[in-house]
Amino acid sequence: MNSQSNDMANNVNASHARAESLIAKERIEGISPAEQEWLVAHLRECAQCGASAEATQQALRSFVSLHLPVPRGLAARTQFRLRLRAQEMRSIRQPRWRLVYLMCGASWVAGAATAPYVWRGLEWLGHRAGLPDLVWKMGFGVWWAVPAIIAAAILFAENAGTNASRVGLNKTL
Ligand SMILES: [Zn+2]
Repeated sequence: MNSQSNDMANNVNASHARAESLIAKERIEGISPAEQEWLVAHLRECAQCGASAEATQQALRSFVSLHLPVPRGLAARTQFRLRLRAQEMRSIRQPRWRLVYLMCGASWVAGAATAPYVWRGLEWLGHRAGLPDLVWKMGFGVWWAVPAIIAAAILFAENAGTNASRVGLNKTL
């Protein structure tokens, strides 16, 4: 009797563990139709794993869209100021590269503010996916470099545009 109930408890725990690993696997590499079917059946009757699946979904969603309260407010404020500044600059005809530097600076500020969230998100994803630490840490490095790469690209395009318009102006003069 006792050993039988222990076996049952072990089976239930094994089911939870299987559900847990399938929830993670589903997000990262996908699962087979049979696994999917088993998982749906388990989630239907297991509130605990259902909640876990929901939490995974939520965490991924907020990570993907960065709908985290602090950075969102900060990003909105930064964008607003940037837009105001852009209008200001347009009206007094300052060189546009200053705007690019400003954007670059703002993106670094936003980057620094969101860094702990991105780090935590990548760490979470990395552990979920069972990746070695080095892989998600490299992901963090790449993410950090993105604003600089974009700013450099804008600056490059902007310089090309300015040169072209200067040539055009010289011609008309
Ligand atoms: Zn379960």
